[in-house]
Amino acid sequence: MRKQIAAANWKMNLTYQQGEKLADDLLASQYELKANHEVVFGAPFPYLTMVADKVKNAEKFSVAAQNCSNKKSGAYTGETSAEMLVSIGVKYVILGHSERREYFNESNQLLAEKINIALENKLTPIFCCGEPLNIREAETQNSFVEVQLRESLFHLSADQLKQIVIAYEPIWAIGTGKTATSAQAQEMHAHLRSVLAAQYGKEVANEISILYGGSVKAANAKEIFGMPDVDGGLVGGASLVAAEFAVIIRSLK
Ligand code: PEP
Repeated sequence: MRKQIAAANWKMNLTYQQGEKLADDLLASQYELKANHEVVFGAPFPYLTMVADKVKNAEKFSVAAQNCSNKKSGAYTGETSAEMLVSIGVKYVILGHSERREYFNESNQLLAEKINIALENKLTPIFCCGEPLNIREAETQNSFVEVQLRESLFHLSADQLKQIVIAYEPIWAIGTGKTATSAQAQEMHAHLRSVLAAQYGKEVANEISILYGGSVKAANAKEIFGMPDVDGGLVGGASLVAAEFAVIIRSLK
């Protein structure tokens, strides 16, 4: 059974104290989580130890970093390695978020290196892909996203690929309040799964969790997560409000 994941991306928001309160409030809320459900807090680097500590004894809750270096270790001032993250209890790393691709020039090739180093360290990548508005308007989103997968993931073996979570995040829907319809999300998720199946076989493709991201909120999570190829969400803005994100967690199918 594929994992269904509610992943929060706090981005560069919240003070340490606000992050603590948010994590505490969410951990204190009531859920009926199933065996294949997982909740992930994508916290800023300085808060990772604190959040990792809080989720340590909370079954089904884990912590994600929002980035890691493509280098193993050494003279890379300001960088954080996959090995460091694992050493403080981080389980996931968000890679290839459109904001990192746009503001920090992260290419598909660089992301392939980051994926490799994350996997070598048993850190699970949440690999983000998704098209900008002009590509959607030109109706070429399927091939655009396929290239992102091909160039960053398709050097992996099937066993390695199975360690990865994919997040489809149409850039035009991130932080804009403009959500893809559940039908648009399902259509792209089914396409992504068919691309994975063509390369790795149906069985492997059916094991990969594909999250949707882009203005998911309490009011629309249930409908989007209810789509057959949508396995939860990567959530920005709405993950900063405990009451909103708690509803999103409860919307996992
Ligand atoms: C994101 O940044 O991954 C995201 C989906 O943001 P938002 O939910 O705010 O659109």
